[in-house]
Amino acid sequence: MKKNNIFARIINKQIKSDILYQDDIITIFKDIFPKYPVHVLIVPNKKIKNLNAINNTNQNILNHMLIHTIKIAKKLKIHKTGYKVLINCNKGGGQEIPHLHIHLMGGVKK
Ligand code: 5GP
Repeated sequence: MKKNNIFARIINKQIKSDILYQDDIITIFKDIFPKYPVHVLIVPNKKIKNLNAINNTNQNILNHMLIHTIKIAKKLKIHKTGYKVLINCNKGGGQEIPHLHIHLMGGVKK
């Protein structure tokens, strides 16, 4: 039997993580190795390997991910100081986990 990737296990609550938001389409949780004071991951519940797998049929999921990226940035109060949004695609793009995710990083005061 194929083993679920780590994000699928977080979404299914088979392993513990700091989940900040979840609905039928996405799950948002804290990155285990934060690179910024605030570093969260916005992940589709349904397995989509990476950005290359987005098409006309599933683009609504990416849209939902982006809308909630902005909402969670506001909720975490990093929207005024500013934040960075990153999607790594495939190994050459720095993607380690083969399950589409948006990195939301911020909380730096300048
Ligand atoms: P990627 O390099 O694939 O774009 O990003 C994967 C991210 O997932 C990394 O920032 C890494 O710290 C995070 N990560 C890896 N394993 C876990 C885990 O078990 N739990 C959580 N919360 N984050 C993880």
